[in-house]
Amino acid sequence: MQIGIIGGGQLGRMLALAAYPLGARVTFLDPAPAAPMKHLAKHICGAYDDERALEQLARGSDVVTYEFENVPVASAQFISQFTKIFPPPDALRVSQDRLVEKEFFRGLGIPTARFIPVESQTALEREIREIGGAAILKTRRLGYDGKGQFLIRAQDDAKRAWHELNREALILEEFVNFTREVSILAARSQDGAQVFYPLVENVHRDGILRLSRAPAPNTTRALQELAQAYAQRVLDTLNYVGVLAIEFFQVGDELLANEMAPRVHNSGHWTIEGAATSQFENHARAMLNLPFGSAHARGCSAMVNLIGELPDGNALLQIADAHVHLYDKAPRAGRKLGHVTIVASDEKTREMKLAQVLEMIHRKSA
Ligand code: AMP
Repeated sequence: MQIGIIGGGQLGRMLALAAYPLGARVTFLDPAPAAPMKHLAKHICGAYDDERALEQLARGSDVVTYEFENVPVASAQFISQFTKIFPPPDALRVSQDRLVEKEFFRGLGIPTARFIPVESQTALEREIREIGGAAILKTRRLGYDGKGQFLIRAQDDAKRAWHELNREALILEEFVNFTREVSILAARSQDGAQVFYPLVENVHRDGILRLSRAPAPNTTRALQELAQAYAQRVLDTLNYVGVLAIEFFQVGDELLANEMAPRVHNSGHWTIEGAATSQFENHARAMLNLPFGSAHARGCSAMVNLIGELPDGNALLQIADAHVHLYDKAPRAGRKLGHVTIVASDEKTREMKLAQVLEMIHRKSA
């Protein structure tokens, strides 16, 4: 079977690495000549809206998938004339626009932070007053890793926020004083079977994921079931196929959905070593119409992103049960270059090893 992947970044790379043992072949489309997948799979070098390149990918693939959510919906629909494409293009449409996405969650009875589209500076000032506390102004489209966001702490920030972002359609969200951030990874097969990974606890800084712990510590069964129930609603409504991630703000016993990603996700990297079947393998299995593997955790894992520059990989590997993944990307400030996963038998050991990893990373960037 031939899998086509739109996008050639690290997620595609890890997906290909999981698909090969299943006997699949992989081709990817990416406009960058030096995409991280370059040495790993057949490369069609072309733009994401180049119909010739899209047709070449589609005609050569039994199934096409994607590794980032800003694939043009029209391109996904174009592909569907020639071959299967999963997750369905509708999942892209929903996740590409923060307003559509939040309205979609609300329509399914999944709680979110308060939100409102804003179309003028006057409306922004009025809504900030209405919210009463801190708020975040975000571009509706093309925001990722904290880009296109402005934190508003006081009424006076409105003017600056508006001037910074107003070239695009905007949404204002109440700032949530969350207990913590968690995410769920779930997968649905072509015949509707579903698997759910344990909740993951995530730490972001400057809008970028730094660290995940899985299974999320201190998680009640009720919280896990709540996240699963929300994910199941999304999967079934979209007639979804493949891996889906939903990020939540946890406030006490409640979960507020922040966003969803219709793809494998950074907060699921720990599953490569830390779960019985990785998110990448289960996504590949869904593409290939194979049964899912178990999503249960093998121990207590932590995943740390390597951002901007690389620490000494040899030193990291001296920590027992540390696994280093490098994405073959040139260092640049704010860029995800790799990650480290540690798997331990219990939470205490995990925290000890995690502290060692963080020490090494910070020593380098100090
Ligand atoms: P996003 O691009 O929406 O995923 O936002 C990136 C990160 O910014 C989130 O993971 C949170 O840490 C923070 N953030 C975004 N929206 C809010 C909000 N409404 N309240 C509090 N923190 C937020």
